Amino acid sequence: MVAGNTARLYALFEKRSVEFVTKKRKSPLVPSFMERVLYGTEDFEAATEKDLQNWRRIAQYMQAAKPTELRNTAVMSGPVNAAEFVKRIRKNQDQDVLLENLDGTRSVQALAMSTMPASFIEQFPSAYFPYADAVVVNNRSPGLLMHELGHAVDLTKRDNESNLRRYLRWQLKPLLWQELSAWRKARKAYQAGYAASPEIDDERSRKEYLDNMRSYNRRKYPAFGSYLGGIGGLGLGAVGGGIAAGILTDGALVPHGGLIGGLGGGAFGAIGGALAGKLWAKLRENANKRKAEKQLDAFRKHPQMSAIREHLLKLREEEQRNSEKQKSKKKG
Ligand SMILES: [Zn+2]
Repeated sequence: MVAGNTARLYALFEKRSVEFVTKKRKSPLVPSFMERVLYGTEDFEAATEKDLQNWRRIAQYMQAAKPTELRNTAVMSGPVNAAEFVKRIRKNQDQDVLLENLDGTRSVQALAMSTMPASFIEQFPSAYFPYADAVVVNNRSPGLLMHELGHAVDLTKRDNESNLRRYLRWQLKPLLWQELSAWRKARKAYQAGYAASPEIDDERSRKEYLDNMRSYNRRKYPAFGSYLGGIGGLGLGAVGGGIAAGILTDGALVPHGGLIGGLGGGAFGAIGGALAGKLWAKLRENANKRKAEKQLDAFRKHPQMSAIREHLLKLREEEQRNSEKQKSKKKG
């Protein structure tokens, strides 16, 4: 039937929302000592229904600003079945370049994921899985959710981008740069989407925005600190280790001294950097709040606001349609 076919064809091109796959936690997260020091224990509790509603809004704002980038992205939390990952790893198969096809990158990923029990997946640290286009956040931090979705915005194949270009971007973009991009792109997408929303001047919603930005900054600065401290520590540690080794061996510099010193220095630098980042976030809390308000005002004047608002309303219409469909399914 032609009508049916047209409808099916249309459905293929229809905008899809970020999908949420969440399961009730069975085991608690056990944060490390450093995590407890940096973020407190509250962040490591399971996400509540209220948290998840906030997460959905965050994803929706971000997607309104970046509709094609987050089209296929999924957010997973809790003891999710590995099949959910495998399904998604298969879905984007047509994006692979010859090399990935030849060495079976995607098959290996699927195989590796399939071995992971749900009890292990619910202990995963926050991450983005580019081949599955899936974000995992097992704690309740909205700032981390934003960051991981920022990785998706940064890495997913762009419209009109060739597979090869996408592949080279994944391979050649240095990890540190990927991290910085994820933080920056997450913030921009979230703020642009929220600035375009009808609820921007609503008091409760504004408080949610500021709370989310606070969580973002609380996570971002220690992360930045650990990247910078890690690099600085690595360098200083290498010099120090080299010198110490040199002294110990009476002048004949042992290269391993530099290496061991570098690694140790890197680790200590990362910890020190993270702690400095925490302190910095705390000191900057009020300044960051003002900055978050200012950035929002700047986005409101952005020429793309009406288009982003249109995307947002479309996503909400779709959400409404889906929840009605589910309701009638339950009744039937
Ligand atoms: Zn990251």
